Amino acid sequence: MPELPEVETVRRGIAARVVGRKITAVEIGRERSVRRVGREAVIHGLTGATVTQARRRGKYLLFDLDTGEEMMIHLRMSGRVLVEPVGTLRPAHTHVVLSLSSRDGVSDEMWFVDPRTFGEVVVYDPTQIAEVMPELIRLGVDPICDQFDAVVLKARLHGKRGAIKPLLLSQHVIAGIGNIYADEILHRAGLRWNRTADSLTPAQIRRLALCITDVLTDAINAGGSTLDDSQYVDIEGKFGSYQAEHRVYGRDGKRCVTCGKADIARVVAGGRSTAFCPRCQK
Ligand SMILES: [Zn+2]
Repeated sequence: MPELPEVETVRRGIAARVVGRKITAVEIGRERSVRRVGREAVIHGLTGATVTQARRRGKYLLFDLDTGEEMMIHLRMSGRVLVEPVGTLRPAHTHVVLSLSSRDGVSDEMWFVDPRTFGEVVVYDPTQIAEVMPELIRLGVDPICDQFDAVVLKARLHGKRGAIKPLLLSQHVIAGIGNIYADEILHRAGLRWNRTADSLTPAQIRRLALCITDVLTDAINAGGSTLDDSQYVDIEGKFGSYQAEHRVYGRDGKRCVTCGKADIARVVAGGRSTAFCPRCQK
């Protein structure tokens, strides 16, 4: 599932290739991809609109339109956004096609491709956000696009019970972190997944805040992670490369490259698989 670094990589691609262009036509294949507001609302809301800005909050892609409305795309499990010249063969599971005004003599299309169809495309009036997109209001702090440091993290964890990993995964606490980056962040911070939030010392909170920012930034710089079983690619169809830098995720049974003295262990808790180094993480 794409997490913050993958979604940010897609956002940057769209900012470069799509912002400033007018959507001249909209085609919708699978109704499920536009289930929230329906086919007519998406076609009516996007046709003739120019995309003026590409933003992101957590795993949500948010686009400002010159009509005053906004478009949201969530990739969920298997969604991809691709931009290709008109006439390029569309892959299977291309559910939404936006024709873009030509730039430098080239007419492109932006595709929303989604084999598993958990993802969605929504067009909405931002004044209706509480009704149409309530989850956006409940999102926690975004460690990359918001002010984020140890003080903010401490405040977000204040009064929260339970293990640190589920708190990192909670989009209401911190927006954008999923299973891959939660494991990588906790390994870099030297913290075991089941440490309770209230057991962390001020120094550990400071280190954790730094590791959240650093791991996510490193992953963005690598274009995100593409795993063997995942479909994640950027808008030009290229894989990310951060999977080569994973220290725990997908490495259970292999030697920890940080300490070189223990093998990466794996446990399943709360339905989620967790990889960690028994020696580095306490
Ligand atoms: Zn280790």
